[in-house]
Amino acid sequence: MVLRKAREVFGRGAAEAPLPRTSESEAAALCHTYEDLGLGFFWSTDAEGRVTYLSPGAHALLAEQGSALNQVFLELFMKTGSESEGERTLPFAFARKGRFEKITVRSERADGETLWWSISGEPVMVRGEFAGFRGHCEDITGERRSAEESSHMAMHDALTGLLNRRRMSQLLERTLTVSSQQNSPCAIMLIDLDRFKQVNDTLGHAAGDALLKQVAARLVRVVGDKEKVSRLGGDEFQVIMPGTDDRGVLGDIATSIITSISQPYTIDGSRCLIGASVGVAVSPFDGDDSDSLVRNADLALYAAKGGGRGRFRFFSADLLKAAADRRLLEEDLHDALQRNELQIHYQPVVRAMDNHVVGVEALVRWNHPEHGSVSPARFIPIAEESNLIKGIGEWVLRRACTEAAAWPGGLRVAVNVSPVQFADDGFPALVASALANSGLDPELLELEITESVFLQEGGATNDRFKALKGLGVRLALDDFGTGYSSLGYLKSAPFDKIKIDQSFVRGATEAGSRNRAIIAAIVALAQALEMDTTAEGVESFDQFDLMKSLNVTLVQGYIYSQPIPNDEFVQKLNDGDWTIEPMGPAFQRHDRQAMFRRVGVIHDNHYYPVVLRNLSVSGALIEGLVDVPLGTEFVVDLGEGQLAVARVRRSRKRQQGLEFEHALVPDGNGGLCTRHRASPYQLAAAGLPQSPKGGDGFQPVGPHLIGGNDDRKASMPAFAMASDWKGAVLRTEG
Ligand code: C2E
Ligand code: MG
Ligand code: MG
Repeated sequence: MVLRKAREVFGRGAAEAPLPRTSESEAAALCHTYEDLGLGFFWSTDAEGRVTYLSPGAHALLAEQGSALNQVFLELFMKTGSESEGERTLPFAFARKGRFEKITVRSERADGETLWWSISGEPVMVRGEFAGFRGHCEDITGERRSAEESSHMAMHDALTGLLNRRRMSQLLERTLTVSSQQNSPCAIMLIDLDRFKQVNDTLGHAAGDALLKQVAARLVRVVGDKEKVSRLGGDEFQVIMPGTDDRGVLGDIATSIITSISQPYTIDGSRCLIGASVGVAVSPFDGDDSDSLVRNADLALYAAKGGGRGRFRFFSADLLKAAADRRLLEEDLHDALQRNELQIHYQPVVRAMDNHVVGVEALVRWNHPEHGSVSPARFIPIAEESNLIKGIGEWVLRRACTEAAAWPGGLRVAVNVSPVQFADDGFPALVASALANSGLDPELLELEITESVFLQEGGATNDRFKALKGLGVRLALDDFGTGYSSLGYLKSAPFDKIKIDQSFVRGATEAGSRNRAIIAAIVALAQALEMDTTAEGVESFDQFDLMKSLNVTLVQGYIYSQPIPNDEFVQKLNDGDWTIEPMGPAFQRHDRQAMFRRVGVIHDNHYYPVVLRNLSVSGALIEGLVDVPLGTEFVVDLGEGQLAVARVRRSRKRQQGLEFEHALVPDGNGGLCTRHRASPYQLAAAGLPQSPKGGDGFQPVGPHLIGGNDDRKASMPAFAMASDWKGAVLRTEG
């Protein structure tokens, strides 16, 4: 029996099967051992393909009744459907009656579990006639699973189960290749969580992980397809949307994502709130390879965060320009200190009750050799990102202390402290040194800190507060109303003053605003905690009166004074006791900026540069053409491939009111954009001026015939151009 088995297994046909160098009984014993160890199984069939032998251990795995003898060998497998390649080649090998090796097939166990097998076999010839198969099979389910697991692990983020960065970038490459072949667009969104770090730091990393999982689930729910969402790492996610270029739809999805992520979470019984910012880029308009598309979505995300977080932003070419400008500015900022280009201006802080100046805020100024005065709102964020803030901040602090120490009468000076400076361990020592060197009374130094310092690690922030209070300086909470505006901070942090942000002050005078009630509550809280309140950016008397009626004690704003240089300031101080009469408009001027944007309109194969004076979802007011008949149809070129079909509804001399055929949609930046765009290739093919990708935005050109005809005479405009348009527009409104 054993001998026969050994022959069956190793024999090369019954007749010609001498076993080299091993006795037959030895070979059979080895086969037994092999079977007993469960390392693999032997099998054989007759000419009809019915099982004539199967190693004992395999019967239970392959046959429902416990024995596979006389069953059709092929039917032991593939019950689960013949999807895999092996499941197609095994019957083929059987039909061909040829030798085959390591074909992978599946079987289903009685309990429903799928097993994977690797099968090899060769035909048995008896006197030249096919007499069946013999072979070997191996249960490879374990290897298969671990391979699947490791490939899942290689492609998925272990925490959230979403695709990982590597997999997403492969997927994006592939999708873009297919999209470009099929001339179809593909959108991507980069999503970054706002305030995630705060949760991680205050509730711990386990809570942070739990939060990320919930965020992932919400994202999948909004997007509707797990295979389109990935976690790139940290708190950054990416979504891919093949076939979509409709910015109305994309804006809606981005808004849903932000709304969904911004709903409260419960983690280990604690409630927490985070937000999200989204950057969107669409191929081929915003880049046709994955690198440029991702880079541009990232720029859009950066702009969304810079625009106040909790919002989405579409990529546009001006973001590239802004990024380039930023880089140049950053280079110049490196030398600004050495080149003595920085200066401090001081803005009085006035007691509203009696117009008495009680202090000042030091505001840094940069006189750039080419660009003139650059706003700190612009260069401080650059300094914060490029590590220049420490040097600049130290300079401002030392300089302000020195200048203030020389003022007569002991006026308090407030210095703005960046969260980056505040987080530095050496900061209290720096403050101590600035005080010692200047001889300024610590009571006269106030440090203005924004709520974002609470985003740093919790314990360290409290220690920092303690160390600073230990020096005897005062602390003010700046820009209240713009950040998280949590009254919780006020209870625990040792602030001496709350500064209500100017946007909050402005909003308060608007009809139906809730800001008044909130300011009243802040003032009441501040009084209870013995803190001062300053209203920032007060310009008009309606704001001023409102702040006084709400019992805000101090006012800082143009109604009293702009920030002024030190020498000018010192002169006023020398006059002695200093009061300022408020002066300003009765009401807040609404900054309704007249729009001035150069765009093009296309009519009858001619391209006209015009000025866009007004833009709404449904229409536009343009200037630059005269006597255009009502009903005329235009294509308005809003730049970057945004072409909107419009009809003239009103025409008055050089202004036309246009109505769009398709409504515009929000661009995520307070502006409007077209839903769809013409790709750069389509624009080039149509001979339209186009903003090169990565270039410097839309450049309108003179009236010309579309289609590359250079002969200006042949392109006489079909309408008279406003004869004076160039001069007039540029002269009066440039
Ligand atoms: P901030 O600390 O909230 O300073 C108040 C800002 O409001 C100043 O802008 C000031 O000129 C402006 N302002 C005051 N009154 C009025 C008003 O009535 N109307 C209007 N429209 N604006 C008013 P500025 O000087 O451009 O500074 C902007 C921001 O830059 C500051 O906001 C502060 O956050 C930051 N900054 C300025 N200097 C420094 C500094 O030395 N270090 C740091 N880290 N940040 C600074
Ligand atoms: Mg300030
Ligand atoms: Mg402020």
